[in-house]
Amino acid sequence: MAFEGLSERLQGSMKKIKGKGKVSEQDVKDMMREVRLALLEADVNFKVVKKFVNDVKERAVGQEVMDSLTPGQQVIKVVNEELTSLLGGEQSKLAVSSKSPTVVMMVGLQGSGKTTTTGKLALHLRKNHNRKPLMAAADVYRPAAIKQLETLGKQLDMPVFSMGDKVSPVEIATKAVEQAKEDHQDYVLIDTAGRLHVDENLMDELDHIKTAVKPDEVLLVVDSMTGQDAVNVAENFHERLGITGIVMTKLDGDTRGGAAISVKSVTGMPIKFAGMGEKSDALEPFHPERMASRILGMGDMLSLIEKAQTNVDEDKAKELERKMRTNELTFDDFLDQLSQVKDMGPIDELLQMMPGASKMKGMKNLQVDDKQIAHIEAIVKSMTKEERDTPSVLNGSRKRRIARGSGRNIQEVNRLIKQFDEMKKMMKQMTGMQKGKKKGGGMK
Ligand code: GDP
Repeated sequence: MAFEGLSERLQGSMKKIKGKGKVSEQDVKDMMREVRLALLEADVNFKVVKKFVNDVKERAVGQEVMDSLTPGQQVIKVVNEELTSLLGGEQSKLAVSSKSPTVVMMVGLQGSGKTTTTGKLALHLRKNHNRKPLMAAADVYRPAAIKQLETLGKQLDMPVFSMGDKVSPVEIATKAVEQAKEDHQDYVLIDTAGRLHVDENLMDELDHIKTAVKPDEVLLVVDSMTGQDAVNVAENFHERLGITGIVMTKLDGDTRGGAAISVKSVTGMPIKFAGMGEKSDALEPFHPERMASRILGMGDMLSLIEKAQTNVDEDKAKELERKMRTNELTFDDFLDQLSQVKDMGPIDELLQMMPGASKMKGMKNLQVDDKQIAHIEAIVKSMTKEERDTPSVLNGSRKRRIARGSGRNIQEVNRLIKQFDEMKKMMKQMTGMQKGKKKGGGMK
């Protein structure tokens, strides 16, 4: 996950000030020296760092902090607010045109993840917004690109418009929009050609497509692993083409995250989505506020809850919530939850979003694949009803009996019980955080 190193360092630098009942100018200065180094080390653009540090200092030694009852925490709040603003402030949503279809042009360098992101975005629009997207293959130079998009279309059961590689990209794009109108598709996502470097011919061609189809969005796809280069690329594309938004890809990798933090300040254009993996469902709407909280170790409960909500059966969720509140969680619920978590994605990623979750060692080793679930099921089914409902009765001889009955070994039984306890803890934390934090919907 991106930002891991930065996140750790920032939290470290804020530790001292956090609990202080009195904060001096020197305290703020000391903290900001460390914050500055942490940001530079994460490859954040130095001008951006300078401005950020000055903005925080100015506010943190001002009245709003000094006069408050909890100055230490007030400083952290300022850092959080300024980081949110650096990342773009308010969430910037994808355009919806008043006349259908909405045309989105995908641009970016080769290898940035353009084609993959086109598929992800199409899926996101259909799954989360009930839209009907058409993907158009306008990259006629990379022979595999058209095929790649067509394969993606088949996998996702999504229409793809292509005319082979002998037709000009301008014509493909124009015809794709006409086709979408005819078929009542409400989005057209045009996958354009990339090059290894910013190149005049490419820019000319993109400009021609833009003039021909008048897109509602020109989304620049940038690879966050390329660090400062990503920021330069974004500046170049914006100057030459006028982009409307950015998709940062590969934020799941071990990038230091600097590009994602600088790109909005440097180009003035918002990050609209973040690519969090190679799979088609690994695209998240970018929420500056949530990302800032995640970086500062305050967790990202809202994204987690949203993820959970798309996978959860309403009645079961209500019952579960009641049980969590009253601490009545049983092993049967645990099994049920695991099957649902399996559909949400890797546990490690989910844990990243939770405040304080890094301390839950037991959960980290929890694999949720079909085989593991079958093993866990065998263990749970070997328990008596009493044991499933009241796990505290599980003593050594009962555990041995369960191990024998399920054909698993005693260590596995012990591990499962430990994980169950961790999950209980996690659930308790989640219900606590969920209270009063929900916000309105809309296009994300
Ligand atoms: P294009 O040349 O810009 O169309 O790039 P592709 O869509 O072919 O992607 C290049 C490579 O990056 C592929 O191997 C993708 O699977 C990978 N990729 C794209 N987005 C992400 C992402 O968000 N995370 C990770 N880990 N890999 C990604």
